[in-house]
Amino acid sequence: MSAILQVKNLKKFFKTGKGILHAVDGITFDIQEGETLGVVGESGCGKSTLGRTILHLLDNTGGQIFFQGKDITKVNKKQLRELREDMQIIFQDPFASLNPRMSLSETIAEPMVIEGRLSKPEIEKRVFQLMDTVGLARRLLNTYPHELDGGRRQRIGIARALALNPKFVVCDEPVSALDVSIQAQIINLMLDLQENLGLTYMFITHDLSVVRYISQNILVMYLGQMVEHCEVDRLFEKPLHPYTQALLSAIPEPDIHKKKKRIILKGELTSPINPKPGCRFAPRCIYAKEACFQKGPELRELEPGHVVACHYAEEINQEKGA
Ligand code: SF4
Repeated sequence: MSAILQVKNLKKFFKTGKGILHAVDGITFDIQEGETLGVVGESGCGKSTLGRTILHLLDNTGGQIFFQGKDITKVNKKQLRELREDMQIIFQDPFASLNPRMSLSETIAEPMVIEGRLSKPEIEKRVFQLMDTVGLARRLLNTYPHELDGGRRQRIGIARALALNPKFVVCDEPVSALDVSIQAQIINLMLDLQENLGLTYMFITHDLSVVRYISQNILVMYLGQMVEHCEVDRLFEKPLHPYTQALLSAIPEPDIHKKKKRIILKGELTSPINPKPGCRFAPRCIYAKEACFQKGPELRELEPGHVVACHYAEEINQEKGA
């Protein structure tokens, strides 16, 4: 396997009336071809902005993005068009992301019509093929989004994302807006598509149980920064960052005989606007010391392939007997 995507010190800041919002602040990771990287964190942590910046839906403020070895942070219009074919997105709310005035067939066909390479009959054929691929019955061809349930609408979103044969897909909370019974169907569809089409996913979610099921590696974000990154099983077995430990403690334990102590995060959320020096998690961290408020922790590889941003990770985890 080789890295299809390499992100180095990526930054995306926004000017606001109150100062500079550090939505994505120095994120670095690789995704191997055919892999799924789960990106997790509370809402507002910058995970969706990270996905959109990688796809060039937002311009980056700093850092580099390499796709298949090429730096794509500075591309011209033609290169951007080519990138759009290779890199796609599946949105959270299929109802909001679909045009209510376009039928199912028009919605799936649109990227191919804009791209302009296929003839009308070829596009029609491809629309049928995509409908079969994502499990949409052909009788639904001329239906409109409001006539369909959430699962079918998300299948349209997936078919549309696949229309130009992408290699890499950012999945931005693709099942969060769906009923639990439908979520599993969509996740299984995405896993099948990955296997059959060789897709690489970046799977953004706040739902840790979903991410465990679909990802090989996981990246935890807190207020625009990466706090922990490693293999998904490792993270669930031995989370090293206090924030990750709190997130995992909130997942319900399926075995009623096992007791799990939930870590309730108290304290104020630091503002990502003009953030102060120091660890952004410090006001909510039960292990915070004076130094945590003075200097932000660097990311350190504490175990092979397991990076953590915490000054005291070794100490904390020794105390916990991790
Ligand atoms: Fe907590 Fe300090 Fe580690 Fe930040 S650096 S997570 S405040 S112990």
